[in-house]
Amino acid sequence: MAARYKPCMSATNPIHVIGAGLAGSEAAHQIASAGVPVVLHEMRPLRMTEAHKTERCAELVCSNSFRSDDWENNAVGLLHEEMRRCGSLILAAGDRHKLPAGGALAVDRDAFAAEVTARLTENPLITLAREEIPDLPPGDWMSVIVATGPLTSPGLSAAIAKATGEGSLAFFDAIAPVIHRDSVDTSIAWFQSRYGKTGPAGTGADYLNCPMTKEQYNAFIDALLAGEKTSFKDWEANTPYFDGCLPIEVMAERGRDTLRYGPMKPVGLDDPRTGRWPYAVVQLRQDNALGTLWNMVGFQTKLKHAEQVRIFRMIPGLENAEFARLGGLHRNTYLNSPKLLDPSLRLKVLPRLRFAGQITGCEGYVESAAIGLLAGRFAAAEALGRSLPPPPPTTALGALLNHITGGHILVAPSGADDRAPSGRLDEGEPDGANKNAPRSFQPMNINYGLLPDLEAAPQTDASGKKLKGPERGKAKKQAMSRRALADLAQWIDLQQHAPSSARHAS
Ligand SMILES: Cc1cc2nc3c(=O)[nH]c(=O)nc-3n(C[C@H](O)[C@H](O)[C@H](O)COP(=O)(O)OP(=O)(O)OC[C@H]3O[C@@H](n4cnc5c(N)ncnc54)[C@H](O)[C@@H]3O)c2cc1C
Repeated sequence: MAARYKPCMSATNPIHVIGAGLAGSEAAHQIASAGVPVVLHEMRPLRMTEAHKTERCAELVCSNSFRSDDWENNAVGLLHEEMRRCGSLILAAGDRHKLPAGGALAVDRDAFAAEVTARLTENPLITLAREEIPDLPPGDWMSVIVATGPLTSPGLSAAIAKATGEGSLAFFDAIAPVIHRDSVDTSIAWFQSRYGKTGPAGTGADYLNCPMTKEQYNAFIDALLAGEKTSFKDWEANTPYFDGCLPIEVMAERGRDTLRYGPMKPVGLDDPRTGRWPYAVVQLRQDNALGTLWNMVGFQTKLKHAEQVRIFRMIPGLENAEFARLGGLHRNTYLNSPKLLDPSLRLKVLPRLRFAGQITGCEGYVESAAIGLLAGRFAAAEALGRSLPPPPPTTALGALLNHITGGHILVAPSGADDRAPSGRLDEGEPDGANKNAPRSFQPMNINYGLLPDLEAAPQTDASGKKLKGPERGKAKKQAMSRRALADLAQWIDLQQHAPSSARHAS
């Protein structure tokens, strides 16, 4: 395919960005800001996705909110602030067109997308090419960022699936809730792998087990059956997904004991308080390398979010659970990134391709734009012959990148051979999990659980008074946010002083 771009002022080869959504628009802006020409390929309006309604760049397909804007107390607010400090186009346009929304950053969606489109099209280093890239990009595009989002067009999806290997691209999220480890009551839940098996890399105590009596199990099943569920959108309804992976409430509908023989199977798990196997068990498995986040094994669900919080807090040990993310099932296209991408978001088997946005396995408008920002900076640095280390993992940008490219645990410690939705063998799904459980890497919003813990959490306030419960949690978040911005400043500084040895095209 011939690239349709205007002759550019620089002699550097252009970087091609596919998809002018949240990630692609931000990536193109970052590349051009570094003085490198970009061709931004967008298929709309020639070919629309099932969710987009306009031809504008960075169209918000659903809500108009970028969520909390509080950098001191909220991880997504921190991400906003870090992106502002990195010259983000998405944040600048969001700030310019914000609407009253309390502590949240909500935007006038039309004015926002119009502003992003104008800023991109006015930039002499950016060419917006309205065309679908229906296959892998031509071999002479030496640096490409694929930012085609959760609704990547079918031709390109198929080509990516083929290039990355069977099973490396998912078409549905089947998300089990993820819980902050420090909110689990370990006087009730205990650490043990089924029958104490160690597996290839386990200790025999790799799961946190929440026990249930018969009465508690029956009350839980009743709540699941009565709980309010979300429905599928028309274009999501006919999916082969359900052949392989059932939501827990659907399993409960099939029979009162179905869950007890599936993900809530208690065999081989001795409750230290009774010395016996409980009637049923909910297992949690470590989700990130830091050990701060644990997922509910086999608990993919279509329950409404508020219902999940209410019903899952009925589980003994989870009465005060704080959820880093709630479960869900919806159409999504995303890579098994921890396995496939290198730390600068390049596809290991085809490094001329970088990925950005939701297709990498982040979740949300802001996170998608943040990964676009990083991909753009990495690609620009490469084109200019500069080396750019990833942002420190103590920053929200670095933590999100780390979740995608390395922080997630791929191989469960005492894993058995579970089947992923398409019937493929997955890497290391848990013992005791639903045999049809989805692969373990799941899209994730930014949250403090992705950042490394503080070496010493604050114990007292400014006046020396001992901090208690929620106050201590708040002080900890604030200290993590301050650490993040200080570490980000050093990373930005590093780039400003990086020596340039621009690699020019012949
Ligand atoms: C229905 C739906 C609702 C969502 N609601 C929210 C929400 O309310 N809040 C939230 O934070 N997140 C939401 N998300 C999740 C996610 O944040 C958004 O999808 C976000 O837009 C992802 O950004 P992105 O840049 O990765 O992809 P997108 O913004 O979707 O951009 C991808 C772009 O690539 C283009 N494209 C696709 N294939 C090709 C191709 N082959 N060639 C050229 N162009 C191509 C598309 O037209 C699109 O413009 C939602 C997702 C979906 C699917």
